[in-house]
Amino acid sequence: MNVFDKIADSIYFLVSRSMDSNMTFIQSGDSHVLIDAGTGMNYHALDKDLQTLGSSLPQLTDIILTHSHIDHIGGVIPIVEEASPKIHLHKAEAEPINQGNMSQTLSNTFGVDLPPLKIEGILEEGTVLEFGDIKMEVAHTPGHSLGSICLDILDTGIIITGDTLFPGGSFGRTDFPTGDDRALVESLKRISEMSFMIGLPGHMHAMKVNAKKSALASYNVAKTMFRM
Ligand SMILES: [Zn+2]
Ligand SMILES: [Zn+2]
Repeated sequence: MNVFDKIADSIYFLVSRSMDSNMTFIQSGDSHVLIDAGTGMNYHALDKDLQTLGSSLPQLTDIILTHSHIDHIGGVIPIVEEASPKIHLHKAEAEPINQGNMSQTLSNTFGVDLPPLKIEGILEEGTVLEFGDIKMEVAHTPGHSLGSICLDILDTGIIITGDTLFPGGSFGRTDFPTGDDRALVESLKRISEMSFMIGLPGHMHAMKVNAKKSALASYNVAKTMFRM
């Protein structure tokens, strides 16, 4: 069974079970923050894993979504049934959801019935979120989806790359609605120019060594693949 891997003080990373996205958990000050929430299918196991860190799903104060695909947002649904964390998402995907349009989540495609959801944390390029001693800055990195973001956890050398950048020269697919080849290449270029040591992706394993090199490799592969 997977358990959270300690990446730095207060920062833990969980590699996916089955169809779930990876997840990052941050506890600092009074904040218990989950970044991406999986499909929701492994809700009980996730709750147990958080308990080993002295937290639990009902104690979450904030959930940040790197984008709203069902494998990242689905897990929010069982959590909001018993708690009221603030949900954060880029405005390009939050605004349709707040108007009751769940199409960007792909829930229909995957045969999941998502109830309406209220996103209160509307993120944009440059938004800085503060949780106790931890500060993170939003980089808008569209391409995999219109509202995809990376989170730069300031002064730690850690970035969370969602489904934009994966390890091993890999990256998120662009063939879902709002996907955009050119935007993805631009976003990968931008990530490869950011300053960081460790990359935590939405799927696959953490980039704990040579994360920048990995970002550059993904940029080069994407550039070639999409002929840019
Ligand atoms: Zn995903
Ligand atoms: Zn995705």
